[in-house]
Amino acid sequence: MSNLKIYPFGGVGEIGSNMTIFETSKHIVIIDYGILFPYEDFFDINYLIADSSQLDTNKELTLFITHGHEDHIGAISHLLTEYPQIKVISPSFASILIKAKLERRKINRKLTLYDENSQFEFDEFTLHPVHVTHSIPETFGFVFHSKEISTLFISDFKFDLNPSFEDIFNYKKIQKLFASSKKSLAMLDSTNILNPGKTLSESDLIEHLDQLIANKKRTFVTMFSSNIYRLKNLLELAKKNKKKITTIGRSLNFYLECAQEAKLLSLEDYPYIEFDAIQNYSSTDIIYVVTGSQGEHLGAARRIIKGDQKNINLNEDDQFIFSSKPIPGNEKKVYQLYNLLAQKNVSIIDYKTHTIHASGHPCQEDLKQLLEHISPDFYIPIHGETYFLRKHIDFIHHHFSQIETIYLNNFQGVEFKNDTFRLINFSPIDPHIIHGNDLIIEREKISERRKIANNGIIFITLNHKSQHIEITTKGLPTEFDSSLLKLKDLADYCAFVENKKRDHDYTIEQVRIKTRTFAKSILGYKPITLVHMV
Ligand SMILES: [Zn+2]
Repeated sequence: MSNLKIYPFGGVGEIGSNMTIFETSKHIVIIDYGILFPYEDFFDINYLIADSSQLDTNKELTLFITHGHEDHIGAISHLLTEYPQIKVISPSFASILIKAKLERRKINRKLTLYDENSQFEFDEFTLHPVHVTHSIPETFGFVFHSKEISTLFISDFKFDLNPSFEDIFNYKKIQKLFASSKKSLAMLDSTNILNPGKTLSESDLIEHLDQLIANKKRTFVTMFSSNIYRLKNLLELAKKNKKKITTIGRSLNFYLECAQEAKLLSLEDYPYIEFDAIQNYSSTDIIYVVTGSQGEHLGAARRIIKGDQKNINLNEDDQFIFSSKPIPGNEKKVYQLYNLLAQKNVSIIDYKTHTIHASGHPCQEDLKQLLEHISPDFYIPIHGETYFLRKHIDFIHHHFSQIETIYLNNFQGVEFKNDTFRLINFSPIDPHIIHGNDLIIEREKISERRKIANNGIIFITLNHKSQHIEITTKGLPTEFDSSLLKLKDLADYCAFVENKKRDHDYTIEQVRIKTRTFAKSILGYKPITLVHMV
């Protein structure tokens, strides 16, 4: 009898920090371990990661990586530090990205590579990787197969039957495996479930990018750095149009290096030039591919647009192509760039005016086409926020009423028994917040930071012996400083007259309370106040 439990600890009910567990009698197979970027600027938080403390460490642990995006591999170093015994299985391109990540943390690990012909045994199950199309090379879903139940898991994909540089989505493999199981379950991507229609293929963009690149203009293109096949198409178009192409930005250069190591492309085949060589060419002959498509503060796009990049001054003869779409929450930052470009009268080209960006996730039509090919018995929407998961369920009910849907969130799961699934529950644990040198920072500390940021700080040092008082403020309006003498008098009276005979702790607390009340009368709010007695 097949013994299988499936449960997500991350990525279901949110987008990011993906982590789903397939548990058999003796094995725990963890699918991906990624990071979640905070939705807004969040006091310099690096990212959030799923809590892994409920993993059953009596079983053999394996980490199976589906592809190299940060929301799937970004937190691996944390998992390997906590569970050094984990065996890691990864596609080749993702493994190069992971190794670079682990090197930075001085973790030396051997990874097991897989491709579409690989198979991995976990008790009575066999994991069969399935090549899928997405927005980074070498993305895989898989079928977790036994005679009784086959589960298809694809967190990120689009159903592309005409991709650039890679094979088509291998739905035939899924059909075959599903046909040799009594029951089947599909767990699929909810990212674009609100969008009717079909997701564009990378190859749909080529003629539109070609027309733009053919313009006799200096061309800037900003895009997601990990979209290697988009970059490869741009390299091809530079060659075709007899132009030179260069890249600006750390992450683009990093991915380009990794792509070459993975033999996905070779810059020697293209008219690629180093940035320092641009002066040797006429400006309308150069295509700059740059980072920062989301308006990031440290991105090359912002630097160039603000005029802070050496040797580049934008003017009205330039065109700036945003071959990307703002991730919800980043729109303001991106429009800031549009406004700066508009000031210089640079042509702005984006996905709204031209077909120059393709998502890596399935719209409704992609899901329909795939489901018509594979017709599963059960269905669990994944990779999406709760609203999207619910909409995904509605979509399945509407178009495939014969499929039984199951709604899951992180820390809920299913167990396969008697040809069907029953729900199981874990204790929900908030994701960990990672900060600075990859340290965990507690939620209370974040709310402390929020208070400091919102209200500023007053430091008061009371010298018990000399009765001297020193006051320093941070983050308060200059106008408040003119009241510091008054505050000093108040603290002086409170500490050394009114409470002269009280113990230090009591005096300190009284000075703190009086200071905050005094500050509120001027500022309208109470700053954080730290009082010390020396
Ligand atoms: Zn992805």
